[in-house]
Amino acid sequence: MTYDMHIHTDYCGHCSGMSVEAILRRADALGLDTIAITDHVFRRQDLAIIQQIAGEVKRCTPRCRVIIGAEVDVDGRYADGRLVTDNVGGLDYVIAGFHYVPTVGIYPHRPDDCVLTPDEFFAAWRSSLLGIVSNPVVSTLAHPGRLPASVLDAKIYFDKMLAVYVEAARRSAENHIAWEINELTGMRLNDGYRDRWHRIYEIALEAGVKLIYGSDAHDPLSMGLDAFTRETLKKLPAGCLSTPDDVIRTS
Ligand SMILES: [Zn+2]
Ligand SMILES: [Zn+2]
Repeated sequence: MTYDMHIHTDYCGHCSGMSVEAILRRADALGLDTIAITDHVFRRQDLAIIQQIAGEVKRCTPRCRVIIGAEVDVDGRYADGRLVTDNVGGLDYVIAGFHYVPTVGIYPHRPDDCVLTPDEFFAAWRSSLLGIVSNPVVSTLAHPGRLPASVLDAKIYFDKMLAVYVEAARRSAENHIAWEINELTGMRLNDGYRDRWHRIYEIALEAGVKLIYGSDAHDPLSMGLDAFTRETLKKLPAGCLSTPDDVIRTS
């Protein structure tokens, strides 16, 4: 990998050793051309943290290019995919992080954590996803599939999910929203999903949606990791991975 477009910092509260300086040092040690620092925006007020990060990057002199972005959360109180803030005009790169069970706002680690029935969850996930990819402030859909994979049984729902992805891909292409191949998500997938995960990206490519890689690193050693990403790319057409310049805002 020559880039890494999804990296968190110590400011998010669940990282270790991810000062801005440590991130830039690691990126240079890995020989990356470009990184995007995309810390969490859980609430509108967190945009101040992104400005703080931008200030710290300015005071450093890394060899790599650094894009200041954010992983802006989808608002878990609703099922329409709205972000916690649309006030992201100053950012070069906005990834939409869909982490919570829509309407109940719970972060599910396992199916039992989801308060909704599987069918209720599926309906709320579907309407949320279609809302996210209808929002032109979004540059990239972070880790597509991570949330349903942590809640739904692949045997019952994977094909139904793919049908939703067909519509989501059509809207993403219209709004120039890329889909991320997320290394951290890949490492967490169970076998029911892992072997078929590339199908999501086939659907994206068929609709003309760009694919972009991000490690989702929360510690320095995870930056640039790409074992799952390479495994996925092997199942997709050669050369299908886009570059940072294909997905960042140019205006
Ligand atoms: Zn995320
Ligand atoms: Zn993330």
